[in-house]
Amino acid sequence: MLDYIVVGFGLAGLSFSEQLQKNNKSFVVISEGDKSSSIVAGGMYNPVILKRFTSPWNAIPQLEYAIPFYSEIEQRLNVRVNNSLPVLRVFNAIEEQNNWLIASDKPNLSPFLSVDFKKNNNEYILADNDFGVVESAGRIEVAKLLKVYRLGLLKSNSYQNEVFDFKNLNIYDDHVSYKGLKAKNIVFCEGFGLKSNPYFNYLPLNGTKGEVLIIKTEKLKLDSIVKSGVFIIPTEDKDCYLIGATYHWTDKTWNTTEEARLELISKLDLVISCKYEVVGQLAGIRPTVKDRRPLVGRHPEYKNMFVLNGLGTRGVMVAPTVSDELFNYIENNTALDTEIDIERFVDEYKKTGV
Ligand SMILES: Cc1cc2nc3c(=O)[nH]c(=O)nc-3n(C[C@H](O)[C@H](O)[C@H](O)COP(=O)(O)OP(=O)(O)OC[C@H]3O[C@@H](n4cnc5c(N)ncnc54)[C@H](O)[C@@H]3O)c2cc1C
Repeated sequence: MLDYIVVGFGLAGLSFSEQLQKNNKSFVVISEGDKSSSIVAGGMYNPVILKRFTSPWNAIPQLEYAIPFYSEIEQRLNVRVNNSLPVLRVFNAIEEQNNWLIASDKPNLSPFLSVDFKKNNNEYILADNDFGVVESAGRIEVAKLLKVYRLGLLKSNSYQNEVFDFKNLNIYDDHVSYKGLKAKNIVFCEGFGLKSNPYFNYLPLNGTKGEVLIIKTEKLKLDSIVKSGVFIIPTEDKDCYLIGATYHWTDKTWNTTEEARLELISKLDLVISCKYEVVGQLAGIRPTVKDRRPLVGRHPEYKNMFVLNGLGTRGVMVAPTVSDELFNYIENNTALDTEIDIERFVDEYKKTGV
């Protein structure tokens, strides 16, 4: 019998698989990957909310855990996916420089907000008031990470490329079975696909659609992430940059739209002056939650069924710590942080009358 079946292989499924590998647990991942937020993700980790100069939820411990977490995977799989890159925030007015300096005094922001502003030396970036520099930021090449990790799982026969069919799931007291597989536990890591999961679709996953563009320009030559109305993120492909992202709360489709393309181009044109070519556009649905906290924990009725979801807009930073919390909760009986525990939505479950 396996220890685990993991359903869904985005950042959540990968992070949980990594906990299983590190702890010598046997498992199989079942995932069908064309509707994945992780593949679309800009992959940025950034410990500061740059609109308001505030700190995201639990950013410091998340970052402290996430960087070595990705670095261990890099070493084991002999692949480079972490590009440490400062974020240069364009100041739109002198007043923003003052707000930055005030924020840089706060204990949870001071390690990240440099008080030395950087002059703009790039003739194609429109930034008259210099940049604020965010340290300890960067980008994980998520699509590459997933691809290489999946190859490893395929080699060890631990990955099945298929849509999980709930009709074939049987739940017993001490294990679950699915087609020919038997496992002590099953963990659902389906991102927005959770909406079609009959066991967990009572959870308030709203989903926020996002789109990014990929542009190519030989002129820009950026070696940092630039943030103005959009993020401009250097990628591994020569002279290519990710431009993102949009936020759409009502459209729940996975297709790219002309509306998003025009929005991103109009914001980009306010910050760069060189010619560029749009060479790609991607769309995904972020697994966002009503109260902006992850969805982690045990099914209210089935003790061997778990969920790891709700990574929201910051899956790169959030996934490693919450996967660790879930693993220790299942294996070592440690309590889950009440902020992430799905127990907080037990009333919603009761309302379903199951
Ligand atoms: C435009 C955009 C930009 C973003 N930028 C960033 C960023 O810069 N930094 C950051 O940290 N985060 C970013 N995010 C958010 C990030 O993508 C998410 O937080 C994270 O990827 C969610 O991972 P997940 O594993 O929960 O879901 P997903 O990545 O969606 O993975 C779920 C997987 O499960 C599969 N699946 C679902 N149901 C089933 C089923 N029944 N059977 C089989 N397989 C199934 C899906 O096909 C998919 O492959 C961005 C998101 C978007 C859309």
